Amino acid sequence: MPDYNLHQHSLFSDGKAETLDYVEKAIRLGFSLLGFSEHSPLPFNTSFSLKKERVQDYINEIDVLKHRFADKLEIFRSLEMDYIPALSEDFSYWADRCKTDYLIGSVHLVSSGTGSPLWFIDGPSPDIYDEGLIDFFGGDIKKALKAYFHQTNQMIETQRFDIIGHFDKIKMHNAGRYFVDEDLWYRKLIDETLELVKSKNLIVEINTRGLYKNRSPKLFPDDYALQRVKEMEIPIVISSDAHHPDELNGLFGFSVSYLKQIGFSKMMKYSNSQWDETNLS
Ligand SMILES: [Zn+2]
Ligand SMILES: [Zn+2]
Repeated sequence: MPDYNLHQHSLFSDGKAETLDYVEKAIRLGFSLLGFSEHSPLPFNTSFSLKKERVQDYINEIDVLKHRFADKLEIFRSLEMDYIPALSEDFSYWADRCKTDYLIGSVHLVSSGTGSPLWFIDGPSPDIYDEGLIDFFGGDIKKALKAYFHQTNQMIETQRFDIIGHFDKIKMHNAGRYFVDEDLWYRKLIDETLELVKSKNLIVEINTRGLYKNRSPKLFPDDYALQRVKEMEIPIVISSDAHHPDELNGLFGFSVSYLKQIGFSKMMKYSNSQWDETNLS
C-alpha cells in the first residue's frame, strides 16, 4: 500500500484537523511522504477555500513542520487549484505566493457562461446538483456535462499543474440517474479529456474519497474512464483526499489490488522535487 498521500485538507481549508495531527498520524502509519493540498484561494467568499489572509500562515506552518520532521517524513505544500474560467486567478499566481511543491487541478464549480452562477457539482447534497442542472442548463444533462468537461479541458490547456484531481467526479451526485457509464456521448467526453491529459503529461489521480465516505459506489475515476487511463498508459497516483487524519490511507489497500486487477503496475511518487515512477504495491 502506498506510504504517501499527496491530497489532503487541514483546517487551512475545509479539513477537520490541524496540520500537525496529519503529520503525527502519517508517522504512525509509517508514511515517507505527505502533501498538504488546501483548496486554493478564490476571488469570492467560500466555506472551503484557503483565505488570502492565511496564505503566509500556511507557508510558515508547513515550513516549520518540514524542518521539525525532516528526519522522519518528507512534507510538501501544495494547493488543490479550482479552475473557473474568467474568475479564478492563473494557477501560477497562488502557486508562487504559496511556494508550492506541486499542484493538483480540479473542477468543483462549473460555469454555464460568463458571469453566470456556478454549478456546485460535488456539494454536500444531491439537491444542489439537481437544482443547478435545472436552473443553469434547463435540465439538459448533456449540456451540463459538456460544460463540466469543457471547463476541465480548458483548465488542462491553459494552466500548468501536475495532477488532475477526481476528473469524473461529475458522476457522484448523478448516481446513475441522468446518464450511465455506457452512454457513448459520455464516453466521448471522457476520451477527449484524456487525450488532453496525455498530451500535457499530466498524472491522473485515483481518488478514494467518494468510496470510503459512501458518497459514490466507485473510485474517481472508474469504469470506462479508468480503463481508458490504463489503455492510454497515463500515469496515476492514489490519493485519499483526506479531510481528517483517520482518512489518510483510506482504501489504499483495496485500490492497489483493484488497480492491479485492471492491469496497472506502476504509480507516480513525488520526492526531492521530482516525479518518479514506483511499483504499485
Ligand atoms: Zn476536490
Ligand atoms: Zn480535495
